[in-house]
Amino acid sequence: MSVRENILRVQRDISSVCQKAGRGSKEIVLLAVIKEADITQIREALDGGISDFGGNKVQDTLKKYNALSENCCFLTALSWHMVGHLQTNKVKDAVKIFDLIHSVDSLRLAEAIDKEAKRINKVQNVLIEVNVSGESTKYGVSQDEVLDLTRKMLLLRHLRLKGLMTIAPLSDNVERSRQYFRTLRLLRDKINNEILNGNNQQLEILSMGMTQDYKVAIEEGATMVRIGRAIFKT
Ligand SMILES: *Cc1c(COP(=O)(O)O)cnc(C)c1O
Repeated sequence: MSVRENILRVQRDISSVCQKAGRGSKEIVLLAVIKEADITQIREALDGGISDFGGNKVQDTLKKYNALSENCCFLTALSWHMVGHLQTNKVKDAVKIFDLIHSVDSLRLAEAIDKEAKRINKVQNVLIEVNVSGESTKYGVSQDEVLDLTRKMLLLRHLRLKGLMTIAPLSDNVERSRQYFRTLRLLRDKINNEILNGNNQQLEILSMGMTQDYKVAIEEGATMVRIGRAIFKT
């Protein structure tokens, strides 16, 4: 299967899950995660209609971004997402290229992003990464810390908090992921009700679901799915 065929299949699956769940498939952003893709494959994804690309490392993404921009003229019409853990010393490059950083997991990181965004006169869109499952190997803030971090981040003028992100534990039973996705949705709703009540800047984005579990994530309210293997494994 080619990248293009893979994309068509994933899009079809998204449509059919949406239809069953009573959602519109336009509510879902399909983000292609390029960590294991080469430039040729990324070009194929572009030709296949993908406009949102996600990287898990700043340097790797920057390299691919630069390679694409050398022989491709409409990169600014695309959206670039940082989905991996972000170290403070990589913030400068990250703020330069990413439209949305999914992985804010500490006030220290949020402040570093805010400071750099201010310096280059940008308002940086971000998500808070939540470690819903509590696995010690995962990045992200605990559920207990999310509201407090949200309140503090709302004071940073060069950040725009757009929603929440999570990674479900690896499992051979996707139904196990459902509870984590549901918890993330309830957390977002709680923030909207308790902190942003009456504010027109409610959190919309739920970045959840990867190749193994994106269908369940959509059933539970995902607005952005991050797909690597289902697109680039050919
Ligand atoms: C690699 C990665 C993905 C995509 O995973 P696949 O299983 O290849 O779909 C999504 N999100 C994050 C944070 C990743 O690192």
